[in-house]
Amino acid sequence: MHRTSSVSVAGHLRNWIGGAWRDAEASEYLDVFDPATAEVIAQVPLSTQQDVEMAVAAAAEAFREWSKTPVPRRARIFFRYQQLLVDHWDELARLIVRENGKSYKDAYGEVQRAIENVEFAASAPTLLMGEQLANIATSLDSGMYRYPLGVVAGITPFNFPMMVPCWMFPLAIVCGNTFVLKPSERTPLLAQRLAELLEEAGLPSGVLNIVHGAREVVQGLIEHPTVRAISFVGSQPVAAYVYREAAAHGKRVQALAGAKNHTIVMPDADLDEAIPQIISAAFGSAGERCMACSVVVAVGSIADRLVEGLKSAADQIRIGNGLDEDVLLGPVIRAEHRDRTLQYIDLGIQEGAVLVRDGRQDRVDANGYFVGPTIFDHVRPSMKIWQDEIFAPVLSVVRVGTLDEAIALANRSRFANGACIFTNSASAIRKFREEIDAGMLGVNIGVPAPMAFFPFSGWKDSFYGDLHANGKDGVAFYTRRKMITARV
Ligand code: NAD
Repeated sequence: MHRTSSVSVAGHLRNWIGGAWRDAEASEYLDVFDPATAEVIAQVPLSTQQDVEMAVAAAAEAFREWSKTPVPRRARIFFRYQQLLVDHWDELARLIVRENGKSYKDAYGEVQRAIENVEFAASAPTLLMGEQLANIATSLDSGMYRYPLGVVAGITPFNFPMMVPCWMFPLAIVCGNTFVLKPSERTPLLAQRLAELLEEAGLPSGVLNIVHGAREVVQGLIEHPTVRAISFVGSQPVAAYVYREAAAHGKRVQALAGAKNHTIVMPDADLDEAIPQIISAAFGSAGERCMACSVVVAVGSIADRLVEGLKSAADQIRIGNGLDEDVLLGPVIRAEHRDRTLQYIDLGIQEGAVLVRDGRQDRVDANGYFVGPTIFDHVRPSMKIWQDEIFAPVLSVVRVGTLDEAIALANRSRFANGACIFTNSASAIRKFREEIDAGMLGVNIGVPAPMAFFPFSGWKDSFYGDLHANGKDGVAFYTRRKMITARV
């Protein structure tokens, strides 16, 4: 059991270093809010270089034993972890709602996605197999073995406080690495619970470490010579910065960034199927998903019916505290983010888009950071509301005449995480698949996020690096290979 608590008597979150909760060497703390009520639920330290030093030292020390621990024994810890996460499913989902604001249903789904990553990691004995070729020349055999890198670090965003850390540390650790996690300072609580449960599953001290904070911690991890690789997920400017800087410091980097995902709706689409999917993809998790649908491209004659259908479905959305029954749309993460979203709505009107549904008028009986579902029609690519990631419940509709125009429009975006099409036409689906410039495609579904055993494969300014998170890419990212050539 834990020698110390994860929170100090003053309500300050502690760092998890070397198997113990330690007060950060911080002089500054940030409030952590419940976004549905604006209540302060914790205080997170802005840890310093010294805290990073301690965490990396603990991870480096633990690596010596952990990297030699037999792979099936490592995997067994994740079997136990999987069961513990299942046992704590409801508690974890409630914690996600509390610090992030999303609906309980979305949070419940997030826990499921995280558990799938742990299940994938538990198949390490198969994932870590090498390759051999006997007889490459007379009496000569050759083979490849996989080895861990050492200490690796993860830096995560606020919007998936459980799933995104679980994209990283289970796989990195089961591959034999030790890990330092820097969770989002806006949603730091889930990480605490993940560490406690992993300790309960039997993970040795120092294999997973958590350092709370913001820029200074990130900088410390980027510059630390012992950190071999960095996995980053967050906004595009920070992803580009982390990729560049960490690579300049000789590290392997995967940096997953922002998005502006287009959903093409063809004239033959089944709107009874498409509209609920688009509504959920645009407004679920308050639009704060990197796979959210933020632009609908209406092709030809379907536009009027589609916009009308989206508006009336959006009118039915229940807005409120994510813990209340039937709520689909919770708050956005912070008051500043709500204000930024309201500015984008003003901007869209100034730019000449038609505001079909105005989420500013929705009244929610709470102090939280709410913005109602907002829909703009007649959006054009010259507008900032088309170009920028707003990351909020604001949906733009662009009208075009043909599928070619729809694809060309989507391909003009600098972002390319995902794209979807709603149609029953095989030739339209094929054309879309072949010509769209994005890495995760959906056909007649709203959120085409791949499962844990496939790579999360954004393109263009949605991803910096070459090996993506998850799947076999993730295994390759967290390992290095030894080639053995032997005459025996
Ligand atoms: P963010 O960039 O503000 O923060 C992400 C992480 O970077 C946090 O841990 C934060 O502390 C750190 N950070 C922030 N500013 C920094 C700076 N100047 N220097 C160093 N570190 C800094 O992102 P966010 O708002 O928490 O998350 C939302 C963003 O993440 C959206 O853009 C979303 O599209 C993206 N995202 C992408 C994916 C994907 O798979 N591509 C998945 C989830 C979220």
